[in-house]
Amino acid sequence: MDVYGLLGSPVEHSLSPPMHEAGYEAAGIDARYVTFEPDDAAEAVRGAAALGVAGLNVTVPFKRDVMAAVEPTERAARVGAVNTVDFTTSPPTGDNTDVAGVLRAFDHHGVSLDGTTAVVVGAGGAGRAATAALAEHADSVRVANRTVSRAHDLVADLGEEETRVDGGDDTATLSAGGLDRLEEWVPAADVLVNATTVGMESDETPVPAELLHDGLAVLDAVYTPLETRLLREADAAGATTVDGAWMLLYQGVEAFERWTGRDAPVAAMNETLREEL
Ligand code: NAP
Repeated sequence: MDVYGLLGSPVEHSLSPPMHEAGYEAAGIDARYVTFEPDDAAEAVRGAAALGVAGLNVTVPFKRDVMAAVEPTERAARVGAVNTVDFTTSPPTGDNTDVAGVLRAFDHHGVSLDGTTAVVVGAGGAGRAATAALAEHADSVRVANRTVSRAHDLVADLGEEETRVDGGDDTATLSAGGLDRLEEWVPAADVLVNATTVGMESDETPVPAELLHDGLAVLDAVYTPLETRLLREADAAGATTVDGAWMLLYQGVEAFERWTGRDAPVAAMNETLREEL
């Protein structure tokens, strides 16, 4: 039996164990997925390698800490965070599948990101992953954050690197600003990602409804609740909406495929995830 797991704190309410175990069952893989709350995440990765753990996910607050124990992929290095550890290499490889989670969530909804003008609200972990993802395809990515200096730091970090992974000579233009820039940026955007926590605790939105329009595709990284006020108002404006469970699903799907070398049973994983939410 293979053992997979999640490092984080807290992790007791994580949706990853049921989602991944639904995948193993549907794929006929003899494996379990368990959670750990280590004191030292890098040391936990080294210990897991010694124990023969097959793969680890990493969540808050350890996504940067584990970089000391892995060889990061180009995407993980660009984002500056690791959420998936693959032990088939030595040292283990640290990937960031949140980037693929964003790309595959849009793709699932038939949204092409190529050549788009994109806006990301938020400059924390999800904002970094979303910006890195969009920058692989968009012409421009504008990052608006409550704390403006954090948006500038994100753009400085990501903008210094080659942002296109799969070909294309152009790099996306990245820019940063405060939330006041949304008034100008959102009406001109094709794609919008909410990567703030706004909408989680209460029925609030980081983007005023009057800025939303029918040419937009909107991904809300928030997945509790699934239908946030932003998505409700985006839908009313005629926009394409993508809830946060799609990003969560596809970061897990990407990890599953990296670890097992097989196509993930996406429908089974999605069904279980949505039952648990
Ligand atoms: P984080 O690193 O703590 O960043 C939080 C972000 O929210 C920051 O940009 C922060 O702005 C902003 N923010 C917080 N309160 C705000 C307010 N009242 N008004 C405006 N902005 C506010 O968190 P994270 O890990 O990026 O997570 C952000 C959200 O994404 C969470 O809801 C999380 O559950 C979700 N998420 C979803 C997935 C998925 O797979 N669907 C993956 C990762 C995260 P400041 O910089 O000004 O503090």
